[in-house]
Amino acid sequence: MKRCLAAAALSLALGAAAAAEGMEPHYRELLERLVNINTETRNLAGLAQVRQLLIPQFESLGLVLTRHRLAQDGREVLSFEMPGAKPKVMLVGHLDTVFPVTGGFQKLEDQGNRLVGPGVIDMKGGVVLLLNVLEQLKKQGGLDQVRVVLNDDEEIGSPNSKAVIRNLAQGLPFGLVFEPGLEDGSVVSSQSGVRWIKLTTTGKAAHAGLEPEKGIDACLDLAIKVKKVSALAQSGKGLTINPGLIAGGSKPNVVCEDASVTFDIRFRSLADWQDVSHAIHHISAVSDVYNPLLQQGAHTEMTQLAEMPLLPTASTAELLERIQISARSLGQTVRARAVGYGSDGNNLAETGMQLLVGVGPYGGGMHSDQEFMLLSSYQERLSLLTLLITQLSYSQKGTS
Ligand SMILES: [Zn+2]
Repeated sequence: MKRCLAAAALSLALGAAAAAEGMEPHYRELLERLVNINTETRNLAGLAQVRQLLIPQFESLGLVLTRHRLAQDGREVLSFEMPGAKPKVMLVGHLDTVFPVTGGFQKLEDQGNRLVGPGVIDMKGGVVLLLNVLEQLKKQGGLDQVRVVLNDDEEIGSPNSKAVIRNLAQGLPFGLVFEPGLEDGSVVSSQSGVRWIKLTTTGKAAHAGLEPEKGIDACLDLAIKVKKVSALAQSGKGLTINPGLIAGGSKPNVVCEDASVTFDIRFRSLADWQDVSHAIHHISAVSDVYNPLLQQGAHTEMTQLAEMPLLPTASTAELLERIQISARSLGQTVRARAVGYGSDGNNLAETGMQLLVGVGPYGGGMHSDQEFMLLSSYQERLSLLTLLITQLSYSQKGTS
């Protein structure tokens, strides 16, 4: 039985690939309409418009919408599934982009084998692909295996939506995140964890020419700490430390009283982060500038401003193997790479589900005014994901 269905899925997938060189007109047109509506994360009106456009598309497949309202301002997560479904595979997308309403890059442009436009791969192309895959699944009765989740604040780290998304993932063994594939089509094998750590140093002001001996230089103390903390980076291990924001002092002729630095720290193993965190605590506890007259040194506080969990390779290994098997049967090759940036895959990592990030169509120039999607990648992913999701539907995991 299982083998039969897989074979049917394979022929359907091959059929989908052969059906069109580019996108079917309906999906091509939908993508253009979506791209031409600005949905920068703060543009709530644009996001509402895009939701309005998409909801009937999902509903026409027989899926039922649930709105998860997040705040008074209209932000919401949409989820779709068949009535009475027991889904196994969560399909995750976001509707927001990074492109400001005031910018010059607002419309889809057709350049033959590539479509150029704001959010065309990140991830409006991914959302259209998702819909297209669902239509294929419907033809073989596989729609009751999926739950679709679309949020609207991913580009700022999903601060409002991540709790809802994690909740919707409960009990589902598999999650596919429709972020764009990397430039060569690779999917993501792991995503770094991220922490933003701020050090705030307090010293003592004094006139720099008249009585500097009465001061405690917070800027100097902090500068020494920036050097010490930055030296903890190990780029070979993907452990990066960027002191991206520094502030301090009031005037050149005043000994600096207050200074601060915010580090962006990225890591591929939790142990690395724990080591760095301890080391920063120790560095902060020492006064690098000490005034013997006052018997007092600079004082530093450490605070965490933001965090994004790690997506470890253990969370992607199973789906990576499965997508590679599906790819081989279609004559495709899918590679995987570790990346330093985050996605909702990071936010889902601790749910215990197996995840794969970057299954969407790919191209290049993501987040720039050159962002483009390769049409061939759309077709490739359409057949690949239709087959993969079908095979996941009939797999043993999550059947209890
Ligand atoms: Zn994205």
